[in-house]
Amino acid sequence: MTSASEHDADIQPGSLYVVATPIGNLGDLSPRARAVLAGVSRIAAEDTRTTAVLLRHCGVDTPMTALHDHNEAQVVDGLVARLQAGESLALVSDAGTPLISDPGFQLVRAARNAGCAVLAVPGPCAAIAALSIAGLPSDSFLFVGFLPPKPAARRQRIAELAHEPRTVLLYESSHRVVDSLADLAAVLGERPLMLGRELSKRFEQSVLLPATALTQWIAEDPNRQRGEFVLAISPAPAADSDQAREAQRLLRVLLAEMPASRAARAVAALTGLRKQVVYELALGLGGADANDADATEGA
Ligand code: SAM
Repeated sequence: MTSASEHDADIQPGSLYVVATPIGNLGDLSPRARAVLAGVSRIAAEDTRTTAVLLRHCGVDTPMTALHDHNEAQVVDGLVARLQAGESLALVSDAGTPLISDPGFQLVRAARNAGCAVLAVPGPCAAIAALSIAGLPSDSFLFVGFLPPKPAARRQRIAELAHEPRTVLLYESSHRVVDSLADLAAVLGERPLMLGRELSKRFEQSVLLPATALTQWIAEDPNRQRGEFVLAISPAPAADSDQAREAQRLLRVLLAEMPASRAARAVAALTGLRKQVVYELALGLGGADANDADATEGA
């Protein structure tokens, strides 16, 4: 325990406070987070309109500066100058923990490089909330943010993750969750996945099902396709990871001699891995086919 009392923000001049905010349930704003937001000289906010709603809710009227993906490089120097002049700053994103698939990295790095204190005000994070309820191994995990939006790149990324020996956490939007689940099912088959939807909100749902069954679950009801999603992929069986390493070694040799689809067929037969997985690995290693449609069919 620290010496600071439970709710006392004890704001230090010249310090940057990285403050986690609710991911859907305003009751999750901690008393200390509120006190810091009220006590700092200024808040750097991803979207000042979104944060204004939170501040109104908790009766705080601290001035704000917008800091988002498109202006972070421009505003960082000015914010660090404020810290060096003795102002205190809070950094918030629209929801959850700043920097976790959210802006703020450049500000935190610049503040540290300038010798300013950077302090965490920890709280909600959708990925950690999902991990805590998934019922999947949690001693070690990999967070990968969002999958690539384009189908080919997404499938390759999934094929790489298919052999990850830790639980994999990723974010998905409502626009792509159905397609991403279909791709996950094609590559992972019966591997258990946990889908967390609208965590901490009124229509919160979480289901742990094999990838193919989860794809059907979400297709059955359009309401299940709305909102915000976190996915947790259960770890690959240990043998799979060894096989994947072996598959990549073999593919590197064979791809110099033959098209991706033939190399994938041979390596799948040698390693016992799914042909689709090996084919995506081959594409990820730069393998190509004269005719992609035939190649996919052949794989
Ligand atoms: N920094 C945030 C955090 O700590 O969770 C994440 C920001 S990221 C831009 C937003 C994504 O997080 C959403 O698209 C969704 O995938 C996930 N997310 C945020 N809130 C969520 C919630 N209540 N339930 C499920 N997923 C959520």
